[in-house]
Amino acid sequence: MTFDEFQLHPDVFDGVQGMGYTKPSPIQEQAIPAALAGKDLIACAQTGTGKTAAYLLPVLDFIAYERPEHTTALILCPTRELAKQIDEQVEGFGYHVGASSIAIYGGGKSDIWEQQKRALTQGADIIIATPGRLIAHMQLGYVKLDQIDFLILDEADKMMDMGFAEDIIQIVNQLPTKRQTLLFSATMPNKIREFSKKILHEPEEIRL
Ligand code: AMP
Repeated sequence: MTFDEFQLHPDVFDGVQGMGYTKPSPIQEQAIPAALAGKDLIACAQTGTGKTAAYLLPVLDFIAYERPEHTTALILCPTRELAKQIDEQVEGFGYHVGASSIAIYGGGKSDIWEQQKRALTQGADIIIATPGRLIAHMQLGYVKLDQIDFLILDEADKMMDMGFAEDIIQIVNQLPTKRQTLLFSATMPNKIREFSKKILHEPEEIRL
């Protein structure tokens, strides 16, 4: 299989080529068509399988075609390091789309808070966030998520292990119910399955 078979928007396809990807990984082969078709997904995928492009390319395709004026996607992930990596991939894949993103995470120097607040006030196509820090900004009214089209949970099992389940529910309660939700997890214990029932709608399950 090749990336042109997904019939992505030309600007997204140019981003894929710019990143040097030639052949989709197995998770990309399965997840990208399902996500492009508007389905919710629950995918069991380890780091290193190409899961980031599996969810970013459908989101960027949506942005390239629809050009929404509001924030399109919220990506929740467990750590600052992962948030930064996802942000870099948005820059790479989204370069020709002109998609903007903000990474919101805890820790770091005190001026990071002010930087994040400024960036959130300006807005972006994609917000990538660790749950605790996002809630802090939401409580102060710096972030508007009432129109998002995509919610993505990356490394859902790790977020649960870190005790973020309540925070995630609190965030999800602020989102539109009409949205597409994509959940990625390295492991699929019962607690993730139960949790996913609360936030996913008739998901397609992807296993590698
Ligand atoms: P991820 O699982 O999304 O963290 O990706 C792991 C690594 O594989 C990253 O360095 C990606 O840039 C790379 N990668 C993912 N998908 C592909 C692909 N289809 N072709 C080449 N490299 C890829």
